[in-house]
Amino acid sequence: MKFNPVLARLTPYRGGLSLADIRKRYELKHIAIMSANEVPWGPFPEVVEALRSAVAGLNRYPDGTCAELRGVLAGQLGVSEANLCFGNGSCELLMLLGEALLTENDHAVFPHPSFVMYRSIVLARGGPFSAVPLNRLDYDLDDILQAVRPETSVVIICNPNNPTGSYIEPERLRAFIEGVPKETAIILDEAYGEFVTSPAREETAAWVAEYPNLVVLRTFSKLYGLAGLRLGYGIADPEIVQALDKLRQPFNVDSLAQIAARESLRYPDRLSERRDRIAAERLRLSAALADAGIRCHPSEANFLLVDVTGLAVPGPEVSQALLERGILTRSGYAMDCPGWIRVTIGDAEEGDVFLSAMRELIHGIAQGGALRSGWAADAESISPES
Ligand code: PMP
Repeated sequence: MKFNPVLARLTPYRGGLSLADIRKRYELKHIAIMSANEVPWGPFPEVVEALRSAVAGLNRYPDGTCAELRGVLAGQLGVSEANLCFGNGSCELLMLLGEALLTENDHAVFPHPSFVMYRSIVLARGGPFSAVPLNRLDYDLDDILQAVRPETSVVIICNPNNPTGSYIEPERLRAFIEGVPKETAIILDEAYGEFVTSPAREETAAWVAEYPNLVVLRTFSKLYGLAGLRLGYGIADPEIVQALDKLRQPFNVDSLAQIAARESLRYPDRLSERRDRIAAERLRLSAALADAGIRCHPSEANFLLVDVTGLAVPGPEVSQALLERGILTRSGYAMDCPGWIRVTIGDAEEGDVFLSAMRELIHGIAQGGALRSGWAADAESISPES
């Protein structure tokens, strides 16, 4: 078979062991999923109800334009409906943007370490790129600007950044955007934007009217608890939206995803409450870790990058040692953040299980095994990776 030669440069997204395999291999009854940056709560009960009533209509194709959702979201964000595009997860929008904006001659710039998909989307187009290293886990926007050349088609910024949680405040971000040539598209990935509690936070949706080269990407996978339904959206100049419309498949967002998103948007207060609970737990975990002598990188997202260099267990083995205790995290060693693990903020019960396991690893009780009694999270419905 004659495959596209770019495939030689790509590797499939690694899903890790399935939950069933993990449970079997480590003889675990329950697993705390703190690896995929999801929230610990499912959709709101009204959303579940709306989905239930919609199931009988699944013989019909969905609305290929997401008209109702588009109307509601445009109203809430204060943008025009023509500024919105929808995808099968924001990942699909990233892939479509790669297709729309990059050829093998175009240069792309993205931060490193950051979300792994940026590299694969760029590699899939086969063109030159600069993966600009973070500076002590934070963005150096001057370094990123310096990497932008006249032939640069795309610059990607992830804010807050995955996996570090670092947040670029709006004033600095605006100055950066103004420094990027108008012909270069800026993809601002705000997959974790809804978790930001910094008082400096600004709604960036309105920025697209000022900067026609800006695309803001968001997702219903995180705060909304809808990762399993796959729905993301982009806010951009209509010219960009139309380009993606030409490339996407006709019904790329399924009807259940549209219904769930629309219904979820009716409860802004509950969404804020979720954000506050995650922020409080983020603070509680980082304070407890600091008390135990463990450092976290400052995070505005729903995960923490935790320094694992000072434990009794060697850094590269910490994620594995946690897994043996029923806690799934992401090793920084696999994400070019050696010496760190990424831990998704869950509920207080998961947080307690994690803290108690970390205390064992600090003091060197390294045998795998038993879960704390009373630990009863339902691991059936949650997925291992992100
Ligand atoms: N951007 C970032 C930074 C992410 O971490 C993720 C998911 N882990 C996504 C985009 C994709 O999210 P989804 O496709 O679920 O919308």
